[in-house]
Amino acid sequence: MWDDQGVTQGFLGAPVMMQNPVKLARIWREAICSNGKFALDKNPSRSLGYPAQDLARSYFRQWQPIKDKRSLAFDENGAKIANFDPYKDSWFDYPLVVRNKLGGSWELYNLLTTIHVPACTFSCWHCYVDDQAKNLQQMLKRDSIEYVSASDIVDAFLSQREMDKERGRKTNVLRVSGGEPFLAPDLILQILKYLEMKDLSDEVFVWTETNLSPFLKDDGSSKSLVEEWVDLRELAKYANLAVHPCLHGISPSNYHNITQCDPYYFDGLLSGLDMLVRLRFDVYPTIGSNVSPPSMIPYIFRRIRDIHKDLPQRFALIDYDLLYPPTRERILKTLKPTRLYNKLAVIRTWDRLLKECYGESYPVKPRHMVSL
Ligand code: SF4
Repeated sequence: MWDDQGVTQGFLGAPVMMQNPVKLARIWREAICSNGKFALDKNPSRSLGYPAQDLARSYFRQWQPIKDKRSLAFDENGAKIANFDPYKDSWFDYPLVVRNKLGGSWELYNLLTTIHVPACTFSCWHCYVDDQAKNLQQMLKRDSIEYVSASDIVDAFLSQREMDKERGRKTNVLRVSGGEPFLAPDLILQILKYLEMKDLSDEVFVWTETNLSPFLKDDGSSKSLVEEWVDLRELAKYANLAVHPCLHGISPSNYHNITQCDPYYFDGLLSGLDMLVRLRFDVYPTIGSNVSPPSMIPYIFRRIRDIHKDLPQRFALIDYDLLYPPTRERILKTLKPTRLYNKLAVIRTWDRLLKECYGESYPVKPRHMVSL
């Protein structure tokens, strides 16, 4: 039986942590939206275990993905950076992707100003965000939520941009993260529309992520949850938007081990990825190199290739950093480091499959140059 938190109860009522992401998505969605405004984490820096920064609004945090140029993997002309080592260096190409869309130098897009949708449908053991900061009911009780409109967010972002300019920093990417951002896809759409109205679509880019659970359907329904909340075709048409789908698990059992969710939903997540590709969203998906079983890499590679023959070339293999304070604490409390896998074997297998299919090593080419 599912309880009202979307968690199954086991023998004698002991929780067996089999989350129902559809049920949770509906619970959280209802609490996120209020009178045309959306719930945001008041202090996302603290939710990652760090002190708040000096920001225009407390509901922002900032992140600079490229600290070492090697992490771009490719230069602006698409040539591989000679000393990029896929076994050692994390591939963070966001600034290069955005630069390809908006022009200029990649350095213009290397400071992401981020907001957090404070709810999630999964409970990933490797999550960087504190568990309470993804539970909207607890956040409301702790007065850790602010309800804001898309125009509030964009106006505050523009103030942030001015503040950063005075300090010689370039801020042109507004990132909608979380939690699960697609619990509020209408917030993303309203941000894009407001930027368009202010004639800023050529200057400000919106980067967002999804764990794909809002693309699941209720049993017997022909429509996914997210289609009830936003017109996906309208959202997909924005050229200043990129979506980062995170596959938290590469097989049903790996998905359950990572997220605590019912493995029944795994295929639905891949259908969600398929929907994003078919609707021509610009997607930059990932799998975790240190949390995926190497033996299942050929399986997921084939499943991804079934969606689109070139989709594997759009994937980055990311090494989850287990040293964020909330992650560290969770591992210490729940003793789950045994869920780590051999990252080198994962990358080597992925590399072999890419060579067999496309004749080149991982990463094959800049992801924005892989046409889907
Ligand atoms: S889906 Fe993302 S935000 Fe949600 S628990 Fe997993 S890692 Fe955290």
